[in-house]
Amino acid sequence: MSIPLRQSARIGGYLLKQKLKRTERFPLLVELEPLYQCNLACAGCGKIQHPDHVLRRRMPVDQALAAIEESGAPMVSIAGGEPLVHPEIDTIANELVKRRKFVYLCTNAILMERKLDLFEPSPYFAWAIHLDGMRERHDASVCREGVFDVAVAAIRAAQERGFRVTTNTTFFTHDSPDTVRQVLDFLNDELEVDEMMISPAYAYEKAPDQDHFLGVKQTHELFSEAFAGARRRRWRLNHTPLYLDFLEGKVDYECTAWGIPSYSVFGWQRPCYLMADGYARTYRELVETTDWDRYGRGRDERCDNCMAHCGYEPTAVLATSRSLRESVRAALRT
Ligand code: SF4
Ligand code: SF4
Repeated sequence: MSIPLRQSARIGGYLLKQKLKRTERFPLLVELEPLYQCNLACAGCGKIQHPDHVLRRRMPVDQALAAIEESGAPMVSIAGGEPLVHPEIDTIANELVKRRKFVYLCTNAILMERKLDLFEPSPYFAWAIHLDGMRERHDASVCREGVFDVAVAAIRAAQERGFRVTTNTTFFTHDSPDTVRQVLDFLNDELEVDEMMISPAYAYEKAPDQDHFLGVKQTHELFSEAFAGARRRRWRLNHTPLYLDFLEGKVDYECTAWGIPSYSVFGWQRPCYLMADGYARTYRELVETTDWDRYGRGRDERCDNCMAHCGYEPTAVLATSRSLRESVRAALRT
C-alpha cells in the first residue's frame, strides 16, 4: 500500500470510529510545539516573541508523548520554534512513530542535514520543510540569505536516504499567481517532493511585519488565478480538494479549531495554534471548557482574515467524509 493510501485508510477508519462512538469533537492532527526557540527570525512569525525564559524551555519527552496519547490524534505535526533545536526531538519523533502516529517534522532545514542520522525513513515519518517561495522570495521571507539553498540541499539529502519529504509554503501579499505557480512547479516537478502544503499567512498580532498578510478577498483572487486551468490537479498538494476550493472562494466554511489543536510548553492552547486565550491541561479539558461558538469569522475580529489549514482543513475533511462524491474527488485529487 502506498504511504498516502495507508494514511488515508487509517484516517478514514479513525473518522468512522469517532462517528460510531458519536464523539462530537476529536483531533485529526496535533500541532506539537515542544519549544518556541528558533534559529531564524522571520518577519511574519508570531511564535518567537516570548521572553527568554520561555524561549529556553524544552518540553520533556514524556510530557509530549502523554499529551499525544491522551488526545488520541492519529497525526502529529511537530513545529515550534525550530524543533531540531530541541535536544531530544529525535526521541519524541521516533517514539511517536513507534506508536504508529503519522509524524510531520516541520523545520526550516538549517540543521536538517546535520541531524538526518538521528531519524529513520518510515511510512509514519515525513519531513515538512518550510519554503515560502523561490530563492529570492524565500530568503526575504526568512530574513536571511542562503537559507533557500540550504533547504534545497537538505531536501535532496533526505530524498537520497529514502525519507518521505513534504513542504510547507506560506503566502503573503508579496506573492502573485505567478510566484505561487513557480514555487509549486519547482517543488512538484524539479525537487519531486512527496507532497506540498500551502496556506495564506495568519496575521499574528506579534509578527514584526504587519503589512503583508492576505485578506480573504486577496486570498481568493491569488489562489483562483494560480490554480486556473485545472493546474492544481497536477500538483501533489497535501490537502482535501474542498480546502483548496475554500482557498479559491468556491465554498465557504466555519472554522473547526478543535480538529487541529495545538499543544505547547504551556499546555493545550485555546482556541487554536494561532491564537492564545489561555491553556488547558488536557485535550478533553480543552474541548469541554472552550466556548467554540465565540471563534470564527464574524465572531472574533482576530479570525476575520484567517483561512489557515489548522482551522479549515478539519472542516473540509469532515465535509469530505460525509460525501461519496467528495471522497472520490479526494481519492483522485481533483
Ligand atoms: S522558521 Fe518558523 S518558527 Fe522560526 S522564525 Fe521562521 S516562521 Fe518562526
Ligand atoms: S478562524 Fe479558527 S483557526 Fe483561525 S484564528 Fe480563528 S479560531 Fe483560530
